[in-house]
Amino acid sequence: MKRSSKLENELNKNRIRRSTRTAPSLVTIAAAVLFTAAFVLLLILFGFPVWLSALLLILFTPAGGTLLQVSVSLFCFTGVAVASIRSKRVRRDMKRIKWNPFNRDAVKAIASEVVTFYKGVPVFRPKIGRSGSFSLILLAPGESIVSLDHERGHNTQLMLMGIATYCIAVAIPSPAELGNWSERGNYYGAPWESIADIYGGASRTHVKKESVNAVFYFAAGLFIVPSVFWWVRWKRKK
Ligand SMILES: [Zn+2]
Repeated sequence: MKRSSKLENELNKNRIRRSTRTAPSLVTIAAAVLFTAAFVLLLILFGFPVWLSALLLILFTPAGGTLLQVSVSLFCFTGVAVASIRSKRVRRDMKRIKWNPFNRDAVKAIASEVVTFYKGVPVFRPKIGRSGSFSLILLAPGESIVSLDHERGHNTQLMLMGIATYCIAVAIPSPAELGNWSERGNYYGAPWESIADIYGGASRTHVKKESVNAVFYFAAGLFIVPSVFWWVRWKRKK
């Protein structure tokens, strides 16, 4: 989910606010826990069956998003360990980060050839033209630290939004380049992209309006996407 252009670089030069965050703040984590608790309360209030409650929790809350991330990271780490027995290149990449999946050194991560880990997330290096992220990062060859931080921001976004909300609010509009941000040479000005910069601590600047839009879009997605289930249940009960 990456796009760069000369015009965009020009825009970046003139921006006023740098995102400085590198991880979700304690307030964000507390909000995620509260959101999940409120979600559980609503599931009980609306009397959803247990199997459906579990499914909705996994799809629409930070609990599900985080569970997916932990599972994918563990699975990939195991797979990489097995692959390293045969592959010298994998061994070299992983030795560079001292086999630490929580490696925070972006320089070491982008120096990888096949696979690496960055802040708990697996990063693969296929020969593709465009980077992307969904629980694991596919980082195109020659990508910068800014791109790595941006993609890592998408992982945090997925964990916080929940799987289905992320699919609808980010995974569809991002590659489809919905809206007119790309046309204006400002791909990362779209709210689903700006927040990935903010959560990833990518050193790309955003005007205040973009940051505010990004936070509102993120919060709206959390409530609006799963609301269809409350609505259907409420209508049926009446
Ligand atoms: Zn992106």
